[in-house]
Amino acid sequence: MAQENPITPREKDFSAWYGDVIAAGALADHAPVKGCMVIRPNGYGIWELLQRELDDRIKATGHENAYFPLLIPKSFFDREAEHVAGFAPECAAVTHGGGKELEEPLYIRPTSEAMICTMYGKWVSSWRDLPVMINQWANIVRWEMRTRLFLRTAEFLWQEGHTAHETEAEARAEVLAMLEVYADLAEKVLAVPVIRGVKTASERFAGARETFCIEAMMQNGWALQAGTSHDLGQTFAKAYGIQFQGRDGALQHAWSTSWGVSTRLIGAVIMVHGDDAGIVLPPKLAAVQAVILPIPGKTDEEKALVREGAAAMLADLRAAGVRARVDDREHLRPGAKHYEWERRGVPVRIEFGPRDAKAGTCVLVRRDAKGKSPAPVAGLGAAVAALLGTIQSDMLARARAFMAAKTSAADDYAAFRADLEARGGFFRMRWCGDAACEAKVKEETKATIRCLPLGEPDDAGPCVVCGKPAERRAVFARAY
Ligand SMILES: [Zn+2]
Repeated sequence: MAQENPITPREKDFSAWYGDVIAAGALADHAPVKGCMVIRPNGYGIWELLQRELDDRIKATGHENAYFPLLIPKSFFDREAEHVAGFAPECAAVTHGGGKELEEPLYIRPTSEAMICTMYGKWVSSWRDLPVMINQWANIVRWEMRTRLFLRTAEFLWQEGHTAHETEAEARAEVLAMLEVYADLAEKVLAVPVIRGVKTASERFAGARETFCIEAMMQNGWALQAGTSHDLGQTFAKAYGIQFQGRDGALQHAWSTSWGVSTRLIGAVIMVHGDDAGIVLPPKLAAVQAVILPIPGKTDEEKALVREGAAAMLADLRAAGVRARVDDREHLRPGAKHYEWERRGVPVRIEFGPRDAKAGTCVLVRRDAKGKSPAPVAGLGAAVAALLGTIQSDMLARARAFMAAKTSAADDYAAFRADLEARGGFFRMRWCGDAACEAKVKEETKATIRCLPLGEPDDAGPCVVCGKPAERRAVFARAY
């Protein structure tokens, strides 16, 4: 029996679709406190796998984890003017404790440079103490009122890496190495292709010398900033006193960096891969990669046959390293189970009934592509493990093709505006570097410069806005 689809089609209303997918997949919910989110088990399972993959990469590149406090004295922020100007408007503050008003408000961290750099200032005194390479997994509060689950909430989860180095070149190498770690995570784990680039001054992290980013394209053609890596120069070291005696004996300031990705990456997975039936999980982020859906049959003999066959298949799948489950709930009809697992985005469903049990076969249903294929029960674990690998790479390839098809070069401002309205996507256009041209595009079209892509040859010509000479192209898009 067909069930009514609780999900608004993407074509009809992308924003409503996004909310419906989260609700139907039981991924997250709105919290009683406005702007906050509850990450439900189906959503948190994605975060845990993502976190494990990223944590391994962070440690493999020489970093260690530590934990710094949630509360930061207001005066710490005041030490770096640009930083405080950027973050103070969205800070939440604790003003009372133990029934008394505090002498100084304590900010709930909106980011931790002020706290962590202060501590580094205590720990570093010689070039021998460098580099300091620490990451923390934490929650963050930024007082957002216009919220969207996973993408923009008052409280969210992230990791923030903070490093201090002896030289400018070493710090810059760190910033770019972490950008590459993020790009690798996005492409190999999330199956989300990204553009690596550098932000313009107006989109830079408050207080940073340079902000590098990875940008991904959602199915509505909008961009999502998926990770950032900041070159902080010596600004924060000067504000927070990270000083050391160099090899030449002279006292100098360290060069610092910071970099982070957050739970908004789950929003990217939803919007890059989801379809009108719900979220579609890349196998590497699926807590359940394959679910066996037994169709019990009528007689006791058939029921026993299916039960035993499903148990053997489960053992074989797990032995092959597949995160598998049997859904043997008896109060649900097979159709209801089918829809539930589809909405949860589980990559492979395995249908198995009495006739299959007798024939030694089952039916594999891929979540990412329509269609069913029969498979022998013998060797099922290895076959599904291989299929998961195929699904992972197919999803990246499809997302890559989509991004390529929706990215175009534009040399005429009026044509760009018409195209942006008509079909959206990314527009590669020459920009002279003037903030006024950037602001005009934003004002008139709501598209912003997502980044100046890295590793591209110069492509000189007239700025698409003012006609003055431009050396290269920037990527413009509407963004979350
Ligand atoms: Zn211009």
